[in-house]
Amino acid sequence: QTTDAQPLPVLGRDVTVPLVTGGEVTYAALDYAASAPALQRVWDDVAAYAPYYGSVHRGAGYLSQLSTDLFENSRRAVAEFLGCREDDQVVFTRSTTDSLNLLAAVLPAGCEVFVFETEHHASLLPWRDARVSYLNAPRTPGEAVATLERALAARDLKGPALVCVTGASNVTGELWPVRELAAVAHAHGARVVLDAAQLAPHHPVDIAELDVDWVAFSGHKLYAPFGSGVLAGRADWLRDSEPYLAGGGASRKVARRSDGGVDVEWHTTAARHEAGSPNVIGVYAIASACKALTEAGFDRLVARERELVARVREGLAEVPEVRVLSLFGDDAPRVGVISFVVDGWNSSHFAAALSAEYGIGVRDGLFCAHPLVRTLLGGDAGDPGECGAPDAGPGERSLNAIRVSFGAGTPDEHIERFTGAVR
Ligand code: PMP
Repeated sequence: QTTDAQPLPVLGRDVTVPLVTGGEVTYAALDYAASAPALQRVWDDVAAYAPYYGSVHRGAGYLSQLSTDLFENSRRAVAEFLGCREDDQVVFTRSTTDSLNLLAAVLPAGCEVFVFETEHHASLLPWRDARVSYLNAPRTPGEAVATLERALAARDLKGPALVCVTGASNVTGELWPVRELAAVAHAHGARVVLDAAQLAPHHPVDIAELDVDWVAFSGHKLYAPFGSGVLAGRADWLRDSEPYLAGGGASRKVARRSDGGVDVEWHTTAARHEAGSPNVIGVYAIASACKALTEAGFDRLVARERELVARVREGLAEVPEVRVLSLFGDDAPRVGVISFVVDGWNSSHFAAALSAEYGIGVRDGLFCAHPLVRTLLGGDAGDPGECGAPDAGPGERSLNAIRVSFGAGTPDEHIERFTGAVR
């Protein structure tokens, strides 16, 4: 049973790669969680704009004005895509990592931070200058809510606090109970930032409806390449802090003081945190991707992806040696991100074989979420080095995992090839 939704055209559909067994095959990109292929529509939009490319907020010429309009219209398009409230700001950054580090840089004095140990390192690590409570991995969504409730109650907060939660795990693909976590946080006077790096490409995100204070995501996972990201949400903490980067564009007025120093008046808009010449192509690409997903009918894409998830799960379940990694249990709803290990196989060798023998691109490793993967693998994953993991010998237990991930551009054939290859 399939929905009527078709995969969206993406770049690289016809790229062929050599096989170790001889011949070649079209590449099956099944690593969307790392970087998704760009939508053809995004590429076309960017190509149409490229001849008109000009500096943003920094030129009197026609093309500079056009680029400035395009940049600010892109901001509005992203705000609309995220269902932003009237006074929310949309700050353009380089990536989710950059967005969360920006937020960490503007935390009010004395801010306490609460974060689950299961987060991606981009969500786990930026807060270390604050007082951080790392929360233990919950084994159900309900336990996540109860754990946060307990942690917040125990601290008896008097000052500012922030809870950082993921929308969908980059390891298990499982959806987190964002709305419920946000309600608990707010009941204790804490703010919430949603790491939507893996949620936004697979599921509509409505900031007002989820009632979170900020959302962060990356363009390159949302079918838009070119190194841009978003931090959207409440203006107050952003406005009340020093700029994330000091420089032109962030400053409204700069003057020498009589004592020889320099006085600066910073912008109070999103520009405050966007110093330097902005990545107008990347920003335009994000807006184009947001529009393309909305126009294609995001709900239909989500429904189709759910079917692909079910097919991958069924295919993996046919192989007794496969163990799918899950925090919340087999039936937990998840996006198109699934990690697993195969008994008797080193995960890196398995992923290499999928590439060399079948032209399938997946990822192996600890996925920049070392504490989570260690928990899921039984706590004995080795010292992984740079987001990777050491080799296990043949027949030894996996120290790392294999991750297959897919989305709006994935044709049925890639899923069939993958499940067939694993079999
Ligand atoms: N959070 C999550 C859940 C992610 O999956 C990733 C990327 N794997 C990030 C944050 C960081 O995104 P980026 O590398 O684009 O900064």
